[in-house]
Amino acid sequence: MEDLGQSWKKLSLSEEEDRKVDLTSNKKEGKCVLVAKFSMNLDVEKVLMGETWSFDRHLVVLGQYDRSIEVNELKFRSTFFWVQIHGLPYSHLNVETALKFGDSLGVVSKPKDISEMKGGTFMRVRVEVDVMKPLCRGRHVTWDEASEGWIYFKYERLPNICYWCGHLSHNDKDCIIWLQSKGSM
Ligand SMILES: [Zn+2]
Repeated sequence: MEDLGQSWKKLSLSEEEDRKVDLTSNKKEGKCVLVAKFSMNLDVEKVLMGETWSFDRHLVVLGQYDRSIEVNELKFRSTFFWVQIHGLPYSHLNVETALKFGDSLGVVSKPKDISEMKGGTFMRVRVEVDVMKPLCRGRHVTWDEASEGWIYFKYERLPNICYWCGHLSHNDKDCIIWLQSKGSM
C-alpha cells in the first residue's frame, strides 16, 4: 500500500490536515471493583486498619458494602494514610501539634497507642484523605505573632502519584493538565 506521507512529504500540510484530532478526553481512568466477603468482623477491621493498600504501586481504595445499593454505584473517595509531619521544632514535637495538622488534612484516626505518632525528629498522624483531590504537600504555619514557617508532609506507603497535579488517580504520562499544556509545563 502506498504511503501517502512518504510520497507527499515535500508538500506542506493543508489547513484540513493540520487540524488536530484531540483524543485527550478519550483517556478513561480505570475503575475496577472487587467484592470480598469476610466471615469475621475482626478480619475486616484488620484489613481496614492496614490502609494504605496498593497493587503494583496503584492505589487500592477500600470501602464497606452493606448491599443497600448496586456495587457499581459505590463511591470510593477516600483512604487512610500515615502522614509524617516534618520541619517541626523540638517544642512542637507532640501529639497535640500532630493532631492539629491532621485535622487540617482530613478526618484523623487516633491510634490506641499514642507512641505510634512519634517518629523521633517528626510526628506521624493517620488521616482519611480525599483521593479525588491533589495530595497536600505541606502547610504554612504561624508559630507566634512574629514568625511563620512551612511544614512539609511525607506520605507513608505512597503509591503512584502524578507529580504534575498531585492526584493519585493517574501517573505523570496520563495527566490531562500536562497533555493540555502540550509540554509547556
Ligand atoms: Zn495529573
